[in-house]
Amino acid sequence: MKPVYLTDKPSPFALNEALVAREQDTLLRRRTPTEGGGGARLRVAGREYLNFSANDYLGLGSHEAIKAAFKTGVDRYGAGAGASPLVTGYNRAHQQLEEEIAYWLGLEAVLLFNCGFSANQAVLKALLGKEHLLWQDRLNHASLQEMGSQLPCKMRRFAHNDMEALEGQLEPGRGLIVSEGVFSMDGDQGPWGELSRLAAQSHNWLMIDDAHGLGVLGPEGRGTLAAQGVDPAGVHIQMGTFGKALGVAGAFVGGSRALVDYLVNFARHYVYSTHMPAAQACAVSQSITLVRTADESRAHLQQLITRFRQGAGQLGWTLGASETPIQPLLVGESRAALALSERLRERGLWVGAIRPPTVPAGTARLRITLSAAHSEQDVDCLLDGLGMRAEGLRHV
Ligand SMILES: *Cc1c(COP(=O)(O)O)cnc(C)c1O
Repeated sequence: MKPVYLTDKPSPFALNEALVAREQDTLLRRRTPTEGGGGARLRVAGREYLNFSANDYLGLGSHEAIKAAFKTGVDRYGAGAGASPLVTGYNRAHQQLEEEIAYWLGLEAVLLFNCGFSANQAVLKALLGKEHLLWQDRLNHASLQEMGSQLPCKMRRFAHNDMEALEGQLEPGRGLIVSEGVFSMDGDQGPWGELSRLAAQSHNWLMIDDAHGLGVLGPEGRGTLAAQGVDPAGVHIQMGTFGKALGVAGAFVGGSRALVDYLVNFARHYVYSTHMPAAQACAVSQSITLVRTADESRAHLQQLITRFRQGAGQLGWTLGASETPIQPLLVGESRAALALSERLRERGLWVGAIRPPTVPAGTARLRITLSAAHSEQDVDCLLDGLGMRAEGLRHV
């Protein structure tokens, strides 16, 4: 078959104009195919790099026990779910995983989704009608911002972690407040004690997206709420993902039995989508077993974070106010962030530059992520690569 080229035909969509404009602003994105590696390593075009870009915070993505559980699951249940969950795609392995998560996090009921993006969108879309209000942090994930702006409900965005601003916007009993456990580009945490106080006082519902806190923070890796000592009963909806610290893929939404039953009936992303493979649920179950007893990994990770922050500070770099494995190193201009990332790459260090529109204009950064799979020597290599800030900028 010959490929079909549409470029020289009249088109209702200005694809090339949009791409050229992005290129001119140094914002054009390109993908790089990787060749695996696992743990703290990454192979690209035959060369091995130290990986400081992944969200595999506990190094579980290539853990033998999880790979074995995935394989056994494939042997037992096949490669695919075969149907959406309300047809025949809901397997006992999914049911078991839901029960394990509910027990782990102290939730009444849990529902699995193929990914966090669709879980977030499903919840907002299923709950919020035009009579409702949605309040969300300005730095919330794209999946939340985007669905919020497309829904018929009114959306108010409050300044990042600004509880006074939120309190000023709240109206009693009108809808849902949503924020994140750990913010994905900044690594700082939402003030969950205060959020749950404001939600309770105003009789609104509260939802946490804990994609980056789950597995990393708190006793047994139960996440941001556990780490901050916040009663999960005051947070009506918890969303977490399996593709970050848990090292696999997929997501869940948890809360009351009524919430889950409602989503099973009204969440279109759930009802009309082929369920995640049962084998994947088996892998996630195994991962949770490991995560719950991974206190040593979490302690090692915390030591690496401290080591990196001290070292980068001594070199004169500005870091975000983050105590989590997400360590933004602020550079400013997109071009400078790209050049620094390129310089590190030449030294065998893979660190992604994050540019607008993912982050606000003028705050381009390196998003450095640490993992329990890194050693202290790995972190020292990164610090060597970052050199002195002044020297860094001369080379940029
Ligand atoms: C990664 C992420 C998601 C999306 O989860 P996926 O499973 O990757 O689709 C949602 N929210 C936040 C905060 C995230 O970082």
